[in-house]
Amino acid sequence: MKFPIAALLLCLAVSGASAEATYGAPPSGLADHLARLKRAYPDVILDYDKTKLTLKSGATIPISDGRRDKSFDELLDEPDIDDMFAFPYPAHAKPAAPAFNADPGRVRVESLFREIYGDCRQGAAALKMRRVPWFGGSVLITTRQGVDKALEAVSRDLEKLPKAMQKYLAPSAGTFNCRAIAGTTRLSTHAYGASIDLNTDFANYWRWSKAGKDRKVTWTNRIPAEIVDVFERHGFIWGGRWYHFDTMHFEYRPELLAR
Ligand SMILES: [Zn+2]
Repeated sequence: MKFPIAALLLCLAVSGASAEATYGAPPSGLADHLARLKRAYPDVILDYDKTKLTLKSGATIPISDGRRDKSFDELLDEPDIDDMFAFPYPAHAKPAAPAFNADPGRVRVESLFREIYGDCRQGAAALKMRRVPWFGGSVLITTRQGVDKALEAVSRDLEKLPKAMQKYLAPSAGTFNCRAIAGTTRLSTHAYGASIDLNTDFANYWRWSKAGKDRKVTWTNRIPAEIVDVFERHGFIWGGRWYHFDTMHFEYRPELLAR
Protein backbone atom coordinates (compact mmCIF):
# COMPACT_ATOMS: atom_id res chain seq x y z
CA MET A 1 0.00 0.00 0.00
CA LYS A 2 2.99 2.32 0.36
CA PHE A 3 3.60 2.67 -3.36
CA PRO A 4 0.32 4.39 -4.35
CA ILE A 5 0.83 7.01 -1.64
CA ALA A 6 4.38 7.64 -2.83
CA ALA A 7 3.13 7.88 -6.41
CA LEU A 8 0.42 10.32 -5.36
CA LEU A 9 2.96 12.50 -3.55
CA LEU A 10 5.22 12.41 -6.61
CA CYS A 11 2.30 13.52 -8.82
CA LEU A 12 1.58 16.38 -6.45
CA ALA A 13 5.25 17.39 -6.44
CA VAL A 14 5.47 17.28 -10.24
CA SER A 15 2.23 19.22 -10.78
CA GLY A 16 3.45 21.80 -8.25
CA ALA A 17 6.73 22.19 -10.14
CA SER A 18 5.01 22.55 -13.51
CA ALA A 19 3.11 25.58 -12.19
CA GLU A 20 6.45 27.40 -11.74
CA ALA A 21 8.18 29.36 -14.46
CA THR A 22 10.56 27.35 -16.62
CA TYR A 23 13.84 28.54 -18.08
CA GLY A 24 16.17 27.61 -20.92
CA ALA A 25 14.54 29.15 -24.02
CA PRO A 26 16.95 31.32 -26.06
CA PRO A 27 16.78 34.94 -24.80
CA SER A 28 15.78 37.79 -27.07
CA GLY A 29 18.71 39.57 -28.69
CA LEU A 30 20.89 36.45 -28.51
CA ALA A 31 23.02 37.53 -31.52
CA ASP A 32 23.90 40.79 -29.74
CA HIS A 33 24.68 38.94 -26.51
CA LEU A 34 27.06 36.59 -28.33
CA ALA A 35 28.78 39.46 -30.12
CA ARG A 36 29.28 41.18 -26.77
CA LEU A 37 30.58 37.95 -25.22
CA LYS A 38 33.25 37.64 -27.92
CA ARG A 39 34.19 41.32 -27.54
CA ALA A 40 34.44 40.90 -23.75
CA TYR A 41 36.97 38.06 -23.91
CA PRO A 42 38.96 38.49 -27.15
CA ASP A 43 41.92 36.51 -25.75
CA VAL A 44 39.71 33.47 -25.23
CA ILE A 45 36.88 33.39 -27.77
CA LEU A 46 38.10 32.96 -31.33
CA ASP A 47 34.72 32.83 -33.01
CA TYR A 48 31.09 31.78 -32.68
CA ASP A 49 28.14 30.81 -34.79
CA LYS A 50 24.52 29.92 -34.02
CA THR A 51 25.47 26.59 -32.48
CA LYS A 52 28.80 26.97 -30.69
CA LEU A 53 31.62 29.10 -29.32
CA THR A 54 35.07 28.22 -30.66
CA LEU A 55 37.82 29.04 -28.19
CA LYS A 56 41.45 29.83 -28.97
CA SER A 57 42.38 26.74 -26.95
CA GLY A 58 40.62 24.65 -29.60
CA ALA A 59 37.73 23.77 -27.29
CA THR A 60 34.14 24.37 -28.38
CA ILE A 61 31.13 25.07 -26.17
CA PRO A 62 27.55 24.63 -27.46
CA ILE A 63 25.35 27.74 -27.36
CA SER A 64 22.25 25.71 -26.47
CA ASP A 65 21.54 22.35 -24.89
CA GLY A 66 18.07 22.43 -26.45
CA ARG A 67 16.31 22.41 -23.07
CA ARG A 68 13.48 24.85 -22.41
CA ASP A 69 12.04 23.26 -19.31
CA LYS A 70 14.65 23.99 -16.64
CA SER A 71 13.65 24.78 -13.11
CA PHE A 72 15.32 27.82 -11.57
CA ASP A 73 17.80 25.57 -9.74
CA GLU A 74 18.61 23.72 -12.97
CA LEU A 75 19.17 27.04 -14.71
CA LEU A 76 21.94 27.78 -12.19
CA ASP A 77 23.30 24.23 -11.92
CA GLU A 78 23.15 23.15 -15.58
CA PRO A 79 23.33 26.30 -17.70
CA ASP A 80 24.27 26.57 -21.35
CA ILE A 81 25.69 29.70 -23.00
CA ASP A 82 22.37 31.29 -23.95
CA ASP A 83 21.09 30.82 -20.39
CA MET A 84 23.74 33.29 -19.21
CA PHE A 85 21.61 35.99 -20.85
CA ALA A 86 18.25 34.81 -19.46
CA PHE A 87 17.83 38.00 -17.41
CA PRO A 88 18.70 41.46 -18.79
CA TYR A 89 21.17 43.36 -16.60
CA PRO A 90 19.77 46.84 -15.76
CA ALA A 91 23.07 48.76 -15.86
CA HIS A 92 23.03 52.28 -14.36
CA ALA A 93 19.40 51.93 -13.20
CA LYS A 94 18.42 53.24 -9.77
CA PRO A 95 18.98 50.40 -7.25
CA ALA A 96 15.63 48.65 -6.71
CA ALA A 97 14.16 45.25 -5.84
CA PRO A 98 14.49 42.87 -8.84
CA ALA A 99 11.62 40.70 -10.11
CA PHE A 100 11.24 37.24 -8.53
CA ASN A 101 14.29 35.09 -9.42
CA ALA A 102 15.74 37.70 -11.80
CA ASP A 103 19.47 37.15 -11.23
CA PRO A 104 21.38 38.62 -14.21
CA GLY A 105 24.94 37.32 -13.96
CA ARG A 106 24.42 34.46 -11.51
CA VAL A 107 24.12 32.03 -14.43
CA ARG A 108 27.67 31.08 -15.46
CA VAL A 109 28.95 28.27 -17.68
CA GLU A 110 31.86 27.04 -15.60
CA SER A 111 33.80 25.49 -18.50
CA LEU A 112 33.91 28.92 -20.19
CA PHE A 113 34.99 30.74 -17.04
CA ARG A 114 37.77 28.23 -16.41
CA GLU A 115 39.06 28.97 -19.94
CA ILE A 116 38.82 32.71 -19.31
CA TYR A 117 40.58 32.79 -15.94
CA GLY A 118 42.16 29.38 -15.26
CA ASP A 119 41.34 26.80 -12.60
CA CYS A 120 42.37 27.77 -9.07
CA ARG A 121 42.25 24.11 -8.01
CA GLN A 122 45.46 23.66 -10.04
CA GLY A 123 47.13 26.32 -7.88
CA ALA A 124 46.62 30.07 -7.56
CA ALA A 125 49.53 30.72 -9.98
CA ALA A 126 47.27 29.53 -12.82
CA LEU A 127 45.19 32.68 -12.38
CA LYS A 128 48.06 35.17 -12.88
CA MET A 129 46.95 37.54 -10.14
CA ARG A 130 48.59 40.66 -8.77
CA ARG A 131 47.95 43.07 -5.93
CA VAL A 132 46.34 46.42 -6.66
CA PRO A 133 45.94 49.22 -4.10
CA TRP A 134 42.52 49.47 -2.49
CA PHE A 135 41.76 52.35 -0.11
CA GLY A 136 44.62 52.04 2.36
CA GLY A 137 45.20 48.34 1.68
CA SER A 138 45.56 46.16 -1.36
CA VAL A 139 43.64 43.31 -2.98
CA LEU A 140 44.67 40.35 -5.13
CA ILE A 141 42.97 40.33 -8.53
CA THR A 142 43.49 38.49 -11.81
CA THR A 143 45.47 40.16 -14.60
CA ARG A 144 43.66 38.05 -17.18
CA GLN A 145 41.26 39.96 -19.46
CA GLY A 146 42.64 43.20 -17.97
CA VAL A 147 40.55 42.81 -14.82
CA ASP A 148 43.35 44.32 -12.69
CA LYS A 149 43.43 47.42 -14.88
CA ALA A 150 39.63 47.67 -14.78
CA LEU A 151 39.70 47.52 -10.97
CA GLU A 152 42.41 50.21 -10.85
CA ALA A 153 40.19 52.41 -13.02
CA VAL A 154 37.28 51.72 -10.60
CA SER A 155 39.47 52.71 -7.66
CA ARG A 156 40.59 55.96 -9.36
CA ASP A 157 36.97 56.95 -10.05
CA LEU A 158 35.80 55.97 -6.56
CA GLU A 159 38.47 58.26 -5.08
CA LYS A 160 36.67 61.18 -6.75
CA LEU A 161 33.48 60.47 -4.76
CA PRO A 162 32.89 62.22 -1.41
CA LYS A 163 35.15 60.88 1.39
CA ALA A 164 32.05 59.73 3.32
CA MET A 165 31.60 56.97 0.73
CA GLN A 166 34.87 55.25 1.63
CA LYS A 167 33.34 53.45 4.62
CA TYR A 168 31.44 51.24 2.15
CA LEU A 169 34.57 50.36 0.19
CA ALA A 170 37.15 49.34 2.77
CA PRO A 171 38.24 47.09 4.22
CA SER A 172 37.39 44.81 1.32
CA ALA A 173 35.83 41.55 2.53
CA GLY A 174 37.88 39.71 -0.09
CA THR A 175 38.65 39.13 -3.74
CA PHE A 176 40.31 35.80 -4.51
CA ASN A 177 39.04 32.69 -2.75
CA CYS A 178 39.23 29.24 -4.35
CA ARG A 179 35.83 28.09 -3.14
CA ALA A 180 32.34 27.04 -4.17
CA ILE A 181 29.34 29.37 -3.77
CA ALA A 182 27.79 28.91 -0.32
CA GLY A 183 25.27 26.06 -0.36
CA THR A 184 26.33 24.81 -3.84
CA THR A 185 29.08 22.91 -5.67
CA ARG A 186 29.44 25.67 -8.26
CA LEU A 187 32.67 27.70 -8.26
CA SER A 188 32.26 31.27 -7.06
CA THR A 189 33.62 34.03 -9.30
CA HIS A 190 35.91 34.71 -6.34
CA ALA A 191 37.61 31.45 -7.40
CA TYR A 192 38.63 33.20 -10.65
CA GLY A 193 40.09 36.26 -8.92
CA ALA A 194 37.64 38.44 -10.88
CA SER A 195 35.38 39.66 -8.05
CA ILE A 196 35.58 41.98 -5.08
CA ASP A 197 33.47 42.18 -1.95
CA LEU A 198 33.21 45.57 -0.23
CA ASN A 199 32.94 46.21 3.52
CA THR A 200 30.72 43.55 5.16
CA ASP A 201 29.51 46.15 7.70
CA PHE A 202 27.21 47.56 5.00
CA ALA A 203 26.41 44.31 3.18
CA ASN A 204 23.01 42.69 2.72
CA TYR A 205 22.79 39.10 1.52
CA TRP A 206 19.73 37.05 0.59
CA ARG A 207 20.93 34.04 2.61
CA TRP A 208 20.89 36.21 5.75
CA SER A 209 17.25 37.18 5.15
CA LYS A 210 14.56 34.64 5.91
CA ALA A 211 13.03 33.01 2.84
CA GLY A 212 9.46 31.74 3.26
CA LYS A 213 8.11 28.46 1.85
CA ASP A 214 7.54 30.27 -1.46
CA ARG A 215 11.32 31.03 -1.49
CA LYS A 216 10.59 34.74 -1.55
CA VAL A 217 13.18 37.06 0.01
CA THR A 218 13.04 40.77 0.77
CA TRP A 219 15.58 42.87 -1.09
CA THR A 220 17.52 45.28 1.08
CA ASN A 221 20.49 47.47 0.20
CA ARG A 222 22.71 50.13 1.75
CA ILE A 223 25.25 50.56 -1.08
CA PRO A 224 24.93 54.00 -2.73
CA ALA A 225 24.06 54.15 -6.43
CA GLU A 226 27.16 56.30 -7.13
CA ILE A 227 29.43 53.39 -6.17
CA VAL A 228 27.49 50.91 -8.30
CA ASP A 229 27.65 53.28 -11.23
CA VAL A 230 31.45 53.49 -11.11
CA PHE A 231 31.87 49.70 -11.11
CA GLU A 232 29.40 49.27 -13.98
CA ARG A 233 31.25 51.87 -16.07
CA HIS A 234 34.35 49.64 -15.91
CA GLY A 235 32.81 46.24 -16.69
CA PHE A 236 31.75 45.02 -13.25
CA ILE A 237 28.22 43.89 -12.43
CA TRP A 238 26.68 44.31 -8.98
CA GLY A 239 25.16 41.56 -6.81
CA GLY A 240 22.58 44.10 -5.61
CA ARG A 241 20.84 43.73 -8.97
CA TRP A 242 19.97 40.10 -8.21
CA TYR A 243 16.73 38.84 -6.71
CA HIS A 244 19.13 36.67 -4.68
CA PHE A 245 20.97 39.81 -3.65
CA ASP A 246 24.58 40.07 -2.46
CA THR A 247 25.09 43.82 -2.18
CA MET A 248 28.80 43.88 -1.30
CA HIS A 249 29.65 41.78 -4.38
CA PHE A 250 30.97 43.06 -7.72
CA GLU A 251 32.32 40.86 -10.52
CA TYR A 252 33.88 41.51 -13.92
CA ARG A 253 31.23 40.62 -16.52
CA PRO A 254 31.50 43.11 -19.40
CA GLU A 255 29.41 40.83 -21.62
CA LEU A 256 26.35 41.85 -19.57
CA LEU A 257 26.98 45.58 -19.87
CA ALA A 258 26.11 47.36 -23.11
CA ARG A 259 29.20 49.03 -24.57
ZN1 LIG B 1 31.37 38.22 -3.45
